[in-house]
Amino acid sequence: MKQINAVESNVRSYCRSYPIMFEKAQGAFLLDKTGKKYLDFLCGAGSLNYGHNNPVLKKEILDYLNKDGIVHSLDLATTSKEEFLTSFVNRILAPRHLNYKVQFTGPTGTNAVEAALKIARKITNRTKIISFTNGFHGVTLGSLAATGNSHHRGGAGISLNDVTFMPYDEYMGKKTNTIDYIRRVLEDNSSGVDLPAAVILETVQGEGGINIASSKWLQSLQELCHEFGILLIVDDIQVGCGRTGTFFSFENAGIEPDMIIMSKSLSGFGLPFSILLLKPEYDQWKPGEHNGTFRGNNLAFVTAKTAIDHFWTTQEFEAEIILKSHILRDRLIKISRETLSPEIEVRGKGLVYGIDCILSDLATAIRQKCFENGMILETCGSDDQVVKLLPPLTISENELQLGLDILEKSIRQVMQESDFQKQLEEEIIQK
Ligand SMILES: *Cc1c(COP(=O)(O)O)cnc(C)c1O
Repeated sequence: MKQINAVESNVRSYCRSYPIMFEKAQGAFLLDKTGKKYLDFLCGAGSLNYGHNNPVLKKEILDYLNKDGIVHSLDLATTSKEEFLTSFVNRILAPRHLNYKVQFTGPTGTNAVEAALKIARKITNRTKIISFTNGFHGVTLGSLAATGNSHHRGGAGISLNDVTFMPYDEYMGKKTNTIDYIRRVLEDNSSGVDLPAAVILETVQGEGGINIASSKWLQSLQELCHEFGILLIVDDIQVGCGRTGTFFSFENAGIEPDMIIMSKSLSGFGLPFSILLLKPEYDQWKPGEHNGTFRGNNLAFVTAKTAIDHFWTTQEFEAEIILKSHILRDRLIKISRETLSPEIEVRGKGLVYGIDCILSDLATAIRQKCFENGMILETCGSDDQVVKLLPPLTISENELQLGLDILEKSIRQVMQESDFQKQLEEEIIQK
């Protein structure tokens, strides 16, 4: 750690929460230098849905390199790109009756978000974008303008313009339908809210606290967008690729976004890889208008294709996720009731879940204790008050139960060793 602590920029963050040196990883586990195993419920913030070094994907990469397959190609035509597209169209889009063009952007999620915002503005000739409270879309300037978190926004150094923030589903409590408010301001010529080019949202807010948009809310939002000629962009970077139980997070809501952004687990192997899906009529780019050197991460094409072929040709994988989701949900509710309070909210879908601890110090203490007990997980939410669980989708039932055992034991220890119980009760009474 000597060089990392001395030389790596202050901007480093995760390594501060888990200050040990990791060396290897396999499946649901990270290993430190001494071989000590840590169960990984952080999963590269959703980039490792199929676990670390998934053997099926690893084999394909090794074979591909051994035969001198192309690694870098700008956006030249390569066989690995052609094969990825074939699998993506035949196994993901066609069975879902979806028709999109695929844009390979720069390899980060935020670059694909930038592309979506750019093309939406170009298509509509409007500048404003509607984003939502607690939304997270990346930290380059266009994406950052659509990100709610003040800590990240504070790093911009210039004003972040042309985004109007609207209340997400249940932002005003369960009784207020926030779509009514958005409709009202769009209908009113004097509301001060300009007609936007697009609405961008996550169906489950991963960084913002595991807030979930209901199917009904998503459908009303789509209806509103159609009525006003606003493009609907779903940022599926974190909760796509099966995280919520279906390949796309919005499938059960039955909506059909104008654009979909995918990254994180798309390569399946933790390799950088992002795409923007556009309805064909919105593919109004001129050649090279949004470009980038690393748009052809061929190793990612290979693993992404393999992941699709391996996990997404039958319904089996989805059924497995749902089964594990029930286990996770039932046990989290039980744990939070017994160790924290019945008032504590457990939110989630598929295999992305959060325990809203109300107190950010409590969430941090739980994360820390889990780490001491051999498990890595993250906190999220406006005050980092939510303990977030993001196990690999491929995790075995035993490993999932092991993670929940560690979580339960850690919360019990935290509650015994501190006076959070009293603070929590006070907070709950105030609510
Ligand atoms: C991680 C994330 C991004 C940004 O992706 P980067 O690869 O970090 O640029 C954007 N949107 C969502 C929902 C994310 O989770």
